[in-house]
Amino acid sequence: TFRRCRVALPLKIVHVTVAYNKDPSPVKLNLGVGAYRTEEGKPLVLNVVRKVEQLLINDLLVPDYTVSLLVSGDIMRNFLECSVLHYFQNRVTTVQCLSGTGSLRVGGEFLAKHYHQRTIYLPTPTWGNHHKVFNLAGLSVKTYRYYAPATRGLDFEGLLEDLGSAPSGSIVLLHACAHNPTGVDPTLEQWEQIRQLIRLKALLPFFDSAYQASLFCGFASGSLDADAQPVRLFVADGGELLVAQSYAKNLGLYGERVGALSIVCKSADVASRVESQLKLVIRPMYSNPPIHGASIVAAILKDGDLFNEWTIELKGMADRIISMRQQLFDALRSRGTPGDWSHIIKQIGMFTFTGLNAEQVSFMTNEYHIYMTSDGRISMAGLSSKTVPHLADAIHAAVTG
Ligand code: PMP
Repeated sequence: TFRRCRVALPLKIVHVTVAYNKDPSPVKLNLGVGAYRTEEGKPLVLNVVRKVEQLLINDLLVPDYTVSLLVSGDIMRNFLECSVLHYFQNRVTTVQCLSGTGSLRVGGEFLAKHYHQRTIYLPTPTWGNHHKVFNLAGLSVKTYRYYAPATRGLDFEGLLEDLGSAPSGSIVLLHACAHNPTGVDPTLEQWEQIRQLIRLKALLPFFDSAYQASLFCGFASGSLDADAQPVRLFVADGGELLVAQSYAKNLGLYGERVGALSIVCKSADVASRVESQLKLVIRPMYSNPPIHGASIVAAILKDGDLFNEWTIELKGMADRIISMRQQLFDALRSRGTPGDWSHIIKQIGMFTFTGLNAEQVSFMTNEYHIYMTSDGRISMAGLSSKTVPHLADAIHAAVTG
């Protein structure tokens, strides 16, 4: 009987949205959700995605719906090759998984069964789901220092110290770019130091690439490739690594659940053995991944024209996010809000880790109808030129009140 089944606590982020939906105020603002929104607050379906969907509908691109992961037909192979080509060529095995989350989970389960170490180190803080995903996959979860509240930047010393004292062979989860929730990434020089330490200590890097090749940082530095650089550093040294890749954010395909897990091995021979075991992890879990979203991604990545269209649309999204950062920063400065708010323009990605505490957050919710997680993280994509002044007023009142 299920009578003893207790109601689960709502997920924090769902809680934020439920409270927002109930609020009748016309000025309410939801800055909790981590999904891109237009200046009008609407979800964005990329034109290039619409175009490919039309080609699929008109049978001009024909996915073979009978192929399965275990048979590996053309569409699947195209998708996998394209995902892989963005990083590396061989000694790698890639399996299509259910977006970023599914890729992390499959990677975690594989490691729990076939890797000699069971401990994974996660940054503090990190995306909340990481702890649950890896615990349930059978790994033991520990943490390493990452964020320094005092500087609202990276605690690089703490990071090096904690990874330096992790037992040899431990797995280390790294956000490939646009760290969630802090928006704080190591510089390329710091990445190189992290790489040297990881290789010296024979730790195993596991990259979570939920925002790669995306608006959220590559374009901020002027290049799509920039996002992939940390991962490429680790590939170039010939060592092992895992990458869980999501196409949710960078193609606006949140609901299609398109992702891939790549495991880079020491040789092609090891990679083929690893692949055979990955299939055994996936088979009893969901047998085969959905094809439709993967067909869209494969078509865009493979075709030069479509790829270019995608990058132009990405640039549009990136520019909007960057402009929101600047506008919020300027609005706080013009109000003379106490504190150094330069982290708003320094941090990258969809989120700003404001540094506001739980009390200030609840003040802003109660008095200004602004909703966000209690750690003070706001989604820049949820803002528009019209709503920036309201948010700046609220932050100013929270800080000075
Ligand atoms: N990793 C991080 C750091 C994320 O922020 C997210 C999405 N919030 C994911 C993984 C999961 O992404 P997906 O929706 O592709 O499962």
